Amino acid sequence: MRHIAFLCLVALALAPRDLSAFDKAKDYVCGMDVAVGDKTLCVQEKDVPFYFCSEKCAKAFQAEPAKFFQVASDDSAWWVGQVCAHYFEVRKTLAADSVDGIAAQAKTAGEYASVAAKLQPKLDEAVLKSYHEQMEGIAKAAAFPEKLDLETARLAFKTLSEHVVLYVRKVASKQEPAPAVFLFHCGMAKACWAQEIEEPGNPYFGKAMPKCGDPVPAVDDGNFDPNEGCKEGEQGGCKGDC
Ligand SMILES: [Zn+2]
Repeated sequence: MRHIAFLCLVALALAPRDLSAFDKAKDYVCGMDVAVGDKTLCVQEKDVPFYFCSEKCAKAFQAEPAKFFQVASDDSAWWVGQVCAHYFEVRKTLAADSVDGIAAQAKTAGEYASVAAKLQPKLDEAVLKSYHEQMEGIAKAAAFPEKLDLETARLAFKTLSEHVVLYVRKVASKQEPAPAVFLFHCGMAKACWAQEIEEPGNPYFGKAMPKCGDPVPAVDDGNFDPNEGCKEGEQGGCKGDC
């Protein structure tokens, strides 16, 4: 047990990114979710950290790492789900005019995205390219500035959201089942966002204009710009209370 844990600690120490923000992972041998901490058993495969509930599972993994790497890749939706869960928290906090804990939430979203970016899910070539681009984009954009007031946080969230929205439209919309995610564009902020509930909660204007937002179709119809919203139709101004 110590041997495996030690190997992973060495690998993590050498890794360019600090993975301490990770809160849970999936043990792909037994299928359990495991809480991630300093003592969680871990093995790296193709630069992706795999965590285990027990030495037995870690050993089974080490016997066939390529097989489990593919299992994790086929389960990329789980990793993206973790990205979204933390991203949604950031959105909710900004909509309430707060920055409490959002740098940490964004960082965790970014850590999951950086792992998701290394997976190889079975997708059509063009969709796979988009998948990797957006996951890499999220990983980068999720590193929020150190000094974080509401204005800077909203700017940082705008860039992060562009990648999340493009992921939903270009990748998730091609998968079954399509995710229950709602996309919006704010014409005043010239920015988009994604959320898990249907009722818009504007993260850019918060309590001043909570319902301001044009719905954006969750499928890629080639008719959308993250800054300008939908190019045709009746979009272009907020339909909400702004
Ligand atoms: Zn296990």
